[in-house]
Amino acid sequence: MRRTLLILVGAAVVLAALGVPGLRAGASRTRRVAAPQTGPNPTSASPVVGMATDPSTGGYWEVTADGAVFAFGAPFHGSMGGTPLNQPIVGMAATPSGGGYWLVAADGGLFAFGDAGFHGSMGGTPLDQPIVGISADPVTGGYWEVAADGGLFAFDAPFLGSMGGKPLDQPVVGMAASPDGGGYREVAADGGLFAFGDAAFHGSMGGTPLARPVVGIDDDPAGTGYREVGADGGLFSFGAPFFGSMGGTPLNRAVVGMASTPDGAGYRLVGADGGIYAFGDAPYLGSVDVLPLAGLTVAIDPGHDGGNGGDPAIIDQPVDGGGFAEPCDTAGTSTPDGYTEHAFNFDVATRAETLLRAEGATVVLTRTTDTGVGPCVDARAAVANLAHAAAAISIHADGGPPDGRGYTVIEPAPVVSATSDNTAIVGPSAQLGAFVDAAFGSDTGLVPSTYDGTGGTDVRDDLGGLNLSTVPKVLIECANMQNADDAALTESPGWRQQAAQGITDGIEQFLLAGLRT
Ligand code: ZN
Repeated sequence: MRRTLLILVGAAVVLAALGVPGLRAGASRTRRVAAPQTGPNPTSASPVVGMATDPSTGGYWEVTADGAVFAFGAPFHGSMGGTPLNQPIVGMAATPSGGGYWLVAADGGLFAFGDAGFHGSMGGTPLDQPIVGISADPVTGGYWEVAADGGLFAFDAPFLGSMGGKPLDQPVVGMAASPDGGGYREVAADGGLFAFGDAAFHGSMGGTPLARPVVGIDDDPAGTGYREVGADGGLFSFGAPFFGSMGGTPLNRAVVGMASTPDGAGYRLVGADGGIYAFGDAPYLGSVDVLPLAGLTVAIDPGHDGGNGGDPAIIDQPVDGGGFAEPCDTAGTSTPDGYTEHAFNFDVATRAETLLRAEGATVVLTRTTDTGVGPCVDARAAVANLAHAAAAISIHADGGPPDGRGYTVIEPAPVVSATSDNTAIVGPSAQLGAFVDAAFGSDTGLVPSTYDGTGGTDVRDDLGGLNLSTVPKVLIECANMQNADDAALTESPGWRQQAAQGITDGIEQFLLAGLRT
């Protein structure tokens, strides 16, 4: 059970008496009418990470991890879209006037637009934990940055305490300032809430089991309460009215934030896919269409390489395959006509790369030409591991018995060695394999292997590329190059495109299943 010290100060009363701008901004301000967006929704290849309400118009902005800002019923004041960033953007906050906004990155770097002033940032300062959110001080024109460990950094705004240095059950995921700027609250992934200054503690989800973690918080501009929002769209009101939520409704991608309307009589939730879920008096004014695989990395390993056959000194050298020695690589097979497996693998891989990029994925390849030697299988596994790929696949074609046909998706068996442990990815890899098996068969029309595995799937413990993986990974033998019918397929560019489509569809279905709430 989380308890929080409530530190009462007189600031709220004083500021209210003085009529300080920003207090209950929407209630005391002339509002322009927010116009809905006209035309089709804009698209983004980067996931949405946050949003902010324009206190002047009641419209809103969405911000993506790459720093692009999309305005709906609110003026566009600029963005970091198209500018390379050291770290992804993780949040945004509007100025009290709505005439500008700040974007904050995971490294604390801060970008100010419109009438938002730059008052310093944690950018360039080493942090124990990444920055996860930002709030504007409605009184001073400054702001606070908050980190995952609860550390809070004030810039031209008062420091009123933080959870930095104190043990937390779960990381802090966001913050919200009081409407009067006299306090703020930090919220953790388990719903635990920590109030500072004049920000009242009205309860929290801390200690209550949640289906999905809390991802954000917003104050109620009309009162002293606040709302926590979960990744599944569940919304929890404390001392503030409840207008509805997406809890219990399946979502394509997780909710990542929320923002109340200026008068507190409504709010919007925003998903990583750009979806806006509006409640109370909050109109829907448009949203970003985020590409389905935005923010996800896929690793593709085209098996073998064009120079392998001519350089046995390198490719025969033993490497660790996960507790046993295995050759660095092999030359691969070919069709009776001489069409090589390495060329096939590379062609299918680059076709799949193009298809996956079109869906918004970041794609890393273990080799980018078909004329080199290697890399060794352990290095190929490391490419996907270092990229923290959400899914990885090695693309091959088999040299099986001439009378055998079909494709096989090879999934990892659990292998633990002194240098490796793939047990954590065996289950997810089996799910990936099932999606790839079904999609590949459907898209190519090829039969599952008639000589290897069962129903197009096999499980093996003797492949270093799978044993050494720390990300969900499978290997596909797309066809049997020693069989005349399969060989003809592999030599057909049209069929290779179908093979790439099958691989892409299987990976995409696996990834999308993992994103749904
Ligand atoms: Zn091969």
